[in-house]
Amino acid sequence: MARIGLVAHDDKKDELVAWALAHRDVLARHELYGTGTTGGRVMEGTGLTVTRLLSGPLGGDAQLGAMIAEGRLDVLVFFQDPLTAMPHDVDIKSLTRLATLYDILFAPNRRTADAILGAI
Ligand code: PGA
Repeated sequence: MARIGLVAHDDKKDELVAWALAHRDVLARHELYGTGTTGGRVMEGTGLTVTRLLSGPLGGDAQLGAMIAEGRLDVLVFFQDPLTAMPHDVDIKSLTRLATLYDILFAPNRRTADAILGAI
């Protein structure tokens, strides 16, 4: 069982919920964590259980980063909006930096997330 973090920027939340619904049975075998709004949307849209952290801009990204640094997250699925400036850009950079540094499986988009689910 893998510990999977789920995050999506606002313009990508529908896409993440659709992805989670399409992979509901596989995801149900894993332990899911999500930033506040994303986690709530995934639970509503799929019925999956997601441990909700703070909202991303209010510290949720930082919480996921801390989990990575402490060896408590195996996979990060983070659907990012590359066309919109984010007020919490520093938190996003920190989270993606830690995912890179600690060499965890990291999906910034749907096709990569599909590939990762096939590999875990
Ligand atoms: P949210 O955070 O799920 O609470 O909207 C996502 C983000 O970091 O933008």
